[in-house]
Amino acid sequence: MAGAGNAIRGSRVGAGPMGEAERGDTAPRRAITYFCSHDHRSVITFAVEAVPPELWDCPKCGLPASMDSDNPPPATKIEPYKTHLAYVKERRSDQEAEVILDEALALLRSRRKSGDVIF
Ligand SMILES: [Zn+2]
Repeated sequence: MAGAGNAIRGSRVGAGPMGEAERGDTAPRRAITYFCSHDHRSVITFAVEAVPPELWDCPKCGLPASMDSDNPPPATKIEPYKTHLAYVKERRSDQEAEVILDEALALLRSRRKSGDVIF
């Protein structure tokens, strides 16, 4: 029992450098405050050596947030959802249009075959 525990602990120590970097225990951090257009204030901590992005998705509402409290980014983040939905709808109607076109062509061909329509 004790041996197994030591083995696990030993392997963790062996994976030291990467594990430490991932946990970020020793990395110095700084807090950046982001503001979204809903007046949410979100404090995000970054490693000091990391360059904080200009925009950060507000964890509270998902809108883009910036470091400028007086000038939060416009709430355009909602749009992608609409656009995505529209895209899905668009794609569906494209498929429908294709089916309609196929049917129309099939009808056209069958009519041409039977001689009802002459081009
Ligand atoms: Zn927000």
